[in-house]
Amino acid sequence: MIRTRFAPSPTGYMHIGNLRTALYTYLIAKKQNGKFILRIEDTDTERYVHGAIDIILDVLKDTGLNYDEGPNIGGDFGPYVQSERKHIYEKYAEKLVEQGNAYYCFCKDDRLSKLREEALKNNTVFKYDKHCLNLTKEKIKKKIENGEPYVIRQNNPIEGTTTFNDILYGEITVPNFELEDMILLKTDKMPTYNFANVIDDHLMNITHIVRGKEYLSSAPKYQRLYEAFSWEVPTYIHCPHIMKNETEKLSKRNGDASYNDLIEKGYLSEAIINYIALLGWSPDSNEEFFTLEELIKNFNYENISKSSSIFDIKKLKWMNSEYIKKMDKEKFHNMAYKYYENIPKQIDKHLLSEMLQNRIEIFTQIPDIIDFLIELPDYDLSIFEHKKMKTTIESSKKVLTEILPIFENTNDYSIENLNSLLNSYISENSYKNGFVLWPIRCALSGKISSPGGSSELAYLFQKDETLRRIKIAINKLN
Ligand code: GLU
Repeated sequence: MIRTRFAPSPTGYMHIGNLRTALYTYLIAKKQNGKFILRIEDTDTERYVHGAIDIILDVLKDTGLNYDEGPNIGGDFGPYVQSERKHIYEKYAEKLVEQGNAYYCFCKDDRLSKLREEALKNNTVFKYDKHCLNLTKEKIKKKIENGEPYVIRQNNPIEGTTTFNDILYGEITVPNFELEDMILLKTDKMPTYNFANVIDDHLMNITHIVRGKEYLSSAPKYQRLYEAFSWEVPTYIHCPHIMKNETEKLSKRNGDASYNDLIEKGYLSEAIINYIALLGWSPDSNEEFFTLEELIKNFNYENISKSSSIFDIKKLKWMNSEYIKKMDKEKFHNMAYKYYENIPKQIDKHLLSEMLQNRIEIFTQIPDIIDFLIELPDYDLSIFEHKKMKTTIESSKKVLTEILPIFENTNDYSIENLNSLLNSYISENSYKNGFVLWPIRCALSGKISSPGGSSELAYLFQKDETLRRIKIAINKLN
C-alpha cells in the first residue's frame, strides 16, 4: 500500500512550491489507491506562526487535496502534529547513542559561535568539530547530574561515503566528511525537523517522499539514520525549484506567489492546481487542461522534470481565463457579485456577469472594467475618432444628436427594442454599424474599451442615465 505524506511546517502561508509538493504527494497516493497523510512539522518553535496550521488545512480543503489521515481527522498512526509526538523521539535518539551513531553534546552557544566565526573566516562550511564525542561515560553522567543542558548529535564518520537513491536524480554518493553531525534532539528534548521526519516517516509507514530539492543535501544524513535503525528507506522524489525567472527562486521572502495571494488576486483554485501540476511535470499527451480527477489518472512521477520551472504568471492568467469561461454561469455571478458593491441599483447584474465572463482573466480585473458604470469617466474627445469605424468628432456629434430623440421617445429599454431602434436608424441612413454604434458606446462608457455593445449599455443604464450621458457627450462635442 502506497502511503505518502505532506509535511508542512506552519510558518505562515502556503507557498506555491509547497502546494505543488502537496499536489504531487496526493497524486502519487491516489493514483495507486494509497493513503495521503498530512503531518504538521512544528518542532521549530521559533519559526512557528500562530494560525498557520489553519491556513494549511483551509488550502488543502479548498483545493480538494483531501487527506486520509491527519490532524482533526486522526488515523492509526497519530498524533499527526509533531509537537504532540514529543515523547516518541527520545528513545530513538538514545538508541543511536547506545549504538555509537549519536552522542551527547554539551557545547555552549559561545563555543559554537566561535566555531562558526572561524568557519566564516576560513571560508569553509561550519561543521561541528566532534568536541564532545569522546566524553567518557562518567563525565557525561556527572554533567547530566549537574543539570548541564545537552543536545544529541548524529555521529557521522569522517571516512567513507554514503549513497542514497532519488527517483529523478538517480544514485547519489557523497563523502562522509561532508556530513554535519546534525542535532537530533534539542536541549528541551524536542526533536529537530531533521530527526523527527525520519522517525515519523518510518512510524507512519510512509513509502514515498516528495520534497523540495533543497533537501537533497540532507538526504545522506537521513539515509544514515535509516541504516542505523535497519529501517527500509522510502522512495525519494526531490522536486526541482520553482523559479521566478532564470536566476531567482520563487521565495517566501520576496512575497512571491502564495496560494492565498493568488486567490485574493482573483485566480480560481482549480486553475491554480492545474497550472502548478504542469510546473515540473508533463503529461504524455499535449493536453494542458486537467481536473484533479484527471490528474490522478494521468500523473506519473517518472515524468517530473529534473530542471527548474519558471512560474509564468501570464500563462496562469490565460489558464484562469479559460477556466472562467467554462464556469457555471451562476457560480461566476456569485463570485463576481462581491465586486458590484457600488454599482447603481437599476443595473441588471446578471447581464453584467454574462458580459464579464468571457472578458476577464482574473476576478480582480472587474472593478477597473466596470468603474464607468458607477461614474462616467472624465474622457477625452479623441475617443470618438476611430479610423476603422470611420468616425470623427463631427460625425459623432451628428449621430448622437440624431439618436437622442429616438432614445427620448421610447420607454422600452429592453435590449431587443434598443437593437431594433438602432438598426432602423442605421438602415434608414445607410450607415455602417460601427459608424453609429461606436459614438454611442463611447458616450455611454467614456472609454474606448468596455464590455457590451451600445444596446446592452443603454439597457444596463436604462433611460435616465442613458439620456444624461448622451447629452453630456453632445455638449462636450459642441
Ligand atoms: N517540514 C518541511 C517543510 O515544510 C517538510 C520537508 C519534508 O517534506 O520532509 O519544508
